[in-house]
Amino acid sequence: MKIKDIKVAKVEAPLITPFKTALRTVHSIHNIAVYIYTDDGQVGIGEAAPTAVITGETFGSITHAIEHYIKPAIMGLDIADIVHLMERLDTSIYQNTSAKAAVDMAIYDLCAQHYQTPLYKLLGGYRKELTTDITISVNETEEMVKDSLAAVARGFQILKVKVGKDPLGDVKRVVAIRQAVGQHITLRVDANQGWTPKQAVQIIGALEDAGTNIELVEQPVHYSNLAGMQYVTANTLTNILADESVFSARDALTIIEKRAADIINIKLMKTGGIHQAQKICHIAEANDMPCMIGCMLETKISVSAAAHFAASQKNITMIDLDGPSLCLKDPITGGPIFDNARITMTDAVGIGFSI
Ligand code: MG
Repeated sequence: MKIKDIKVAKVEAPLITPFKTALRTVHSIHNIAVYIYTDDGQVGIGEAAPTAVITGETFGSITHAIEHYIKPAIMGLDIADIVHLMERLDTSIYQNTSAKAAVDMAIYDLCAQHYQTPLYKLLGGYRKELTTDITISVNETEEMVKDSLAAVARGFQILKVKVGKDPLGDVKRVVAIRQAVGQHITLRVDANQGWTPKQAVQIIGALEDAGTNIELVEQPVHYSNLAGMQYVTANTLTNILADESVFSARDALTIIEKRAADIINIKLMKTGGIHQAQKICHIAEANDMPCMIGCMLETKISVSAAAHFAASQKNITMIDLDGPSLCLKDPITGGPIFDNARITMTDAVGIGFSI
């Protein structure tokens, strides 16, 4: 099974409500689908999300990287030679992790098809069902409370609350949400780098004192401020999750060595795909640090690949794969079943798309 052709196409999906974080506001998903064709007539599918404020990639840069750098590097290679393929993919261009992720997941889709097995089983087959949280965008308190109650009504038991845009009002926001949804709902808080280290310690301390019982706080300070991450982790009782600070396996090692977080958020768009994500997950596991699997604003295509990866790994204990739940409709059929909070793997081979 050798790579014969690679094509890119546009994927569009309107969102149910605008997605707002401390970094950006988005109304509709405009991503890139990748199709890899083999000499024996199979096709593997992947997706890249241009998240300029996090990975530095745009629609144009991803398309260009795939067509002019990645494609020439892997054309004609055998799908089963996965480590060799991944080496060529990694060295085809510096960074450009989302472009690489789309190609990586299409390769894994093909590899699992080659072995006639669902991808999550090829990768380890640890579990069949996942429970995801859903993101509550940062807004005025009343709107966030309304969105939180609507998410709970949809069956979500875990909410990821976006803050960090207005540090002075963040405690009030989270306290109001906790009061509205009750103690049985798990709350995660994502500041998206929006606080200074001292603000973070103060805000998290206030959340602890208010009895909000937050499961974790994600990326409280700027991604490059590892001393700040270390300071926040050392000076709060709540678990701290590194997201934007960890792209590569080397980044994960640094976070672990510095104890600059308690948990690592793995996203395929940051790692460059499943191959690198496995390394991060295993490094963390060897250091008794659990991982979350997350996604950018992605449709069912790439989130399905992330779900297969998450299902295969014992050390991924938290799931933030709400992309399909935020979209009005899916651009593809087949793959794992996304039913609000519940994601169920199927026995279909590969990622499992019907095309
Ligand atoms: Mg995050």
